[in-house]
Amino acid sequence: MIIAANFKTNHTRKSTKEYMAKLNSFVTELKSDDTVLVFPPSTALDSFDLNDKISVGVQNAYPSVNGSFTGEIGLEQIEEFTLKTILIGHSERRHVLGESQAEVAKKYEFYKAKGFLIVYCIGEPKEVREQGVESVIEYNFSQLDGIDINYENLIVAYEPVWAIGTGLTASNEQIEETLGLLKQKIKAPLLYGGSVKVANVKEIYEIPNCEGVLVGTASWDVDSFCKMVEIAKV
Ligand code: PEP
Repeated sequence: MIIAANFKTNHTRKSTKEYMAKLNSFVTELKSDDTVLVFPPSTALDSFDLNDKISVGVQNAYPSVNGSFTGEIGLEQIEEFTLKTILIGHSERRHVLGESQAEVAKKYEFYKAKGFLIVYCIGEPKEVREQGVESVIEYNFSQLDGIDINYENLIVAYEPVWAIGTGLTASNEQIEETLGLLKQKIKAPLLYGGSVKVANVKEIYEIPNCEGVLVGTASWDVDSFCKMVEIAKV
């Protein structure tokens, strides 16, 4: 399994350091074989001393080594900490911050060329889900425009927008059907994200074609995230 934590705009440099130390001890003691990814805010990025099962990544970055892009970070800032993992296309970047598919694809191309592990997010809004599964798949596939889905270091996270941070989880049947249809096109590992928590993670891990989870809110508490890592261990 792949278990990923997205801190969004939560945690400080100090609390991230404490979180990473606790998570590292837990994963080491558990002898977990699963892959654990953590995406802290940019201000908390660092060269953490971690078990090789854990990687830290960036939630976003500009497709440039450096330059005049106020408020952004680029490759140079990421490489300072020898990080090589990035989240691209998260729904909050697309729908709250207005990132277009063309911008998302540009970031993808840039960080792909640098060999990054890319967790690439797709997911439909509520009104598309209400039109039925065909519209859902069409919408999700449109978010693959300009994306090389055969890239070897790609993980795709299916995250229905209406389930992110809302407490609403897609039903297991909806997740299974959607991941099954996505899998016909995408050979990369597929994650599910959208109000995943300790109480529902086990059943989500068991869904066919689900190779892990991307967790927002419920990952912010380190004990809760460690529990989800523990549940993944078979
Ligand atoms: C996310 O940020 O990717 C996410 C799925 O958030 P939440 O778990 O809070 O729904």
